[in-house]
Amino acid sequence: MNSETIVRTRFAPSPTGDLHLGGARTALFSWAFARHHQGKFVLRIEDTDRERSTPEAVQIILDGMQWLGLEADEGPFYQSQRIERHQEVIQKMLDEGTAYYCYSTPEEVEAMRERARAQGLKPRYDGTWRPEPGKTLPEIPADRQPVVRFKSPQTGATTWDDLVKGPISIPNDELDDLVIARSDGTPTYNFCVVVDDWDMKITHVIRGDDHVNNTARQITLLEALGAELPAYGHVPMILGPDGEKLSKRHGAVSILEYDEQGFLPEAMVNYLARLGWSHGDAELFSRAEFIDWFNTRNLSRSPAQWDPKKLRWVNAHYIKESTNERLAELVAPRIEARGGQPELVDLPAVMELLKSRAETLNELADGALLFCHQEMPAIDPELKEQVLTPEAKQLLHDFNQRAQALEEWSVDAISATIKEVLKAQGARMPQLGIPMRVAVTGQRQTPAIDAVLFLLGRDRVLARLEQSLAN
Ligand code: GLU
Repeated sequence: MNSETIVRTRFAPSPTGDLHLGGARTALFSWAFARHHQGKFVLRIEDTDRERSTPEAVQIILDGMQWLGLEADEGPFYQSQRIERHQEVIQKMLDEGTAYYCYSTPEEVEAMRERARAQGLKPRYDGTWRPEPGKTLPEIPADRQPVVRFKSPQTGATTWDDLVKGPISIPNDELDDLVIARSDGTPTYNFCVVVDDWDMKITHVIRGDDHVNNTARQITLLEALGAELPAYGHVPMILGPDGEKLSKRHGAVSILEYDEQGFLPEAMVNYLARLGWSHGDAELFSRAEFIDWFNTRNLSRSPAQWDPKKLRWVNAHYIKESTNERLAELVAPRIEARGGQPELVDLPAVMELLKSRAETLNELADGALLFCHQEMPAIDPELKEQVLTPEAKQLLHDFNQRAQALEEWSVDAISATIKEVLKAQGARMPQLGIPMRVAVTGQRQTPAIDAVLFLLGRDRVLARLEQSLAN
């Protein structure tokens, strides 16, 4: 790449299911690389497998990328809409002699492979229809639709300096003459990727290392087309906490499930970025810092390990950093989903009260629910009997009377009133605090009682106290 070349990266998911953590992470790296170099980030949906690709899966990819804030500069392009172009290039290769028609049936090819295996060789197509100078090809069988094969180089090796793994070399005699068009004329996977990367002028391909074997094929194809080669970087996979390949067994693997579980997108971006990439020992960094620092040199050669505890820790950090207003906005629908009414309370103030100890938005919603019901929640009868003793009721009654007379309902005024009650009745804080929590919220444990009473509001507190005292 010379210094004038504009960096162009791409994310090229196949829409056959969820957007997984691994896919989201390669998207993130490709995006960050483009942003770092003021280049372009292209989104290409590889939907040529019509059987397995679905519009729902496309939407999941678009939603996931939007949630993470990975905007594409170009695209989404749909590979399925480019078939004519793919076929045009196949025709060009046939014309130029870098591809050829092969009339061998699948059964014949399988038999060739068997023979190779029997001789202890790599199973491969034996080149029956591969044209060579001076070679006479078999007679073309009638009524048989041929596939098109790439006339792959048979000597030497295909080498590239992988941005992550360093130099990789694959002997060309290991590469079969790849089928680039099926007998019905449809182009095959590796070929479409090559034409698209070429047409879209991709300069850097960053993807999972399950594609290393495809890369050798793709490079030979690009060379046959006379195309400039992109640089390739293959990122090792993500392992679960037990060292096995990350899968559903380890919890959610789809990026949008993390949204549902109450993770913030910036926490997800920060955490995914650190999964296989590092900048010194920085653990928490902004999107801008990530873009500024990102380079492929610091991508790790060894697999990264998924660590749900660390993700929660990162999320807790971003929750604390968020404004109360933003948290309230994100948490309100989660409260509604839990049957609460967020409008019953000053939600940003509740966020302020809860956010220092919450690891997810869902925990915030669970905590905030306390304030989001008009009616008194049912109190467990056993708890009631245990806590709301005649002595406790006496304290609550005293508080109730003083609270009615308070001029203003503020945390300070409530706190002062509690102290007055304790003093007047010769009691200690837990003797009032626990019964108060149970009587007003139905729970033994809540955040600071003066803050809870304040946020519930005087009307609800007094109505609930009276109700609890009455029976
Ligand atoms: N469509 C391929 C996949 O989802 C990725 C292709 C590529 O990155 O080259 O696995």
